[in-house]
Amino acid sequence: MKRTGILIVVSGFSGAGKGTLMKRLLERYDNYALSISMTTRLPRPGEEHGKHYFFVDRDEFEKHIEDDGFIEYADYCGNYYGTPRAYVEKCLEEGRDVILEIEIQGAIKIKNKFPDAVLVFVTPPDAGELKRRLMGRGTETEDVIRKRLSRAVEEAQGIENYDYIVVNDELEKCVEDIHAIVIASHCKVQKSIVRIEKISEELSGISKGEKE
Ligand code: ADP
Ligand code: 5GP
Repeated sequence: MKRTGILIVVSGFSGAGKGTLMKRLLERYDNYALSISMTTRLPRPGEEHGKHYFFVDRDEFEKHIEDDGFIEYADYCGNYYGTPRAYVEKCLEEGRDVILEIEIQGAIKIKNKFPDAVLVFVTPPDAGELKRRLMGRGTETEDVIRKRLSRAVEEAQGIENYDYIVVNDELEKCVEDIHAIVIASHCKVQKSIVRIEKISEELSGISKGEKE
């Protein structure tokens, strides 16, 4: 029977460890496809076009919006971020589980368009650790860190939109928690209803045959 892929949305405060977790999850398991977003923010040192993001200017991003090239997009701290449509649709069609590492406005749009999507929110163990991780990463100025921390406060208020929260304290355990959520999501009744209908139809045929 053909396996259907699941859309997994992973959100969380900037610096919570989403990128690190996704890298580890993909190293460990091969059923995942990670969507690469398009953004107008500038690359950080070490980030590559086509690997971490597709880095474009605002004109190019807006052209993609006009062409209906995104399944969702949002503005985050003054930059556009969007999920290109083609890759996600292709991977789902192939039965792969597709991870979207996106912020909350995008997550809500995905839940509305794809009700079977699973929304996971990653949180650090506490606020002090979040600040330490953001500062420790050393990729943003103090001003940008301040903006991102205040954005984190807003995002916390939208937590009820998510299906699961995972605490990224010990990295490996958190990776396993996310993988377990995906396994459980594949076993949801709604995902298997067609299979059960087929089995019960066959059973009904068998039981009639036995009677005759
Ligand atoms: P995000 O993608 O959520 O913005 P990153 O993955 O860039 O966050 O992680 C932010 C910083 O926190 C990085 O320096 C990363 O190495 C560190 N980090 C991530 N997960 C953990 C963890 N479980 N324990 C300690 N440090 C972590
Ligand atoms: P960063 O600049 O730290 O890479 O990402 C900033 C925020 O944008 C993060 O919360 C990240 O999850 C989110 N983000 C990345 N790609 C997308 C996307 O395609 N769509 C939306 N809505 N958010 C995204």
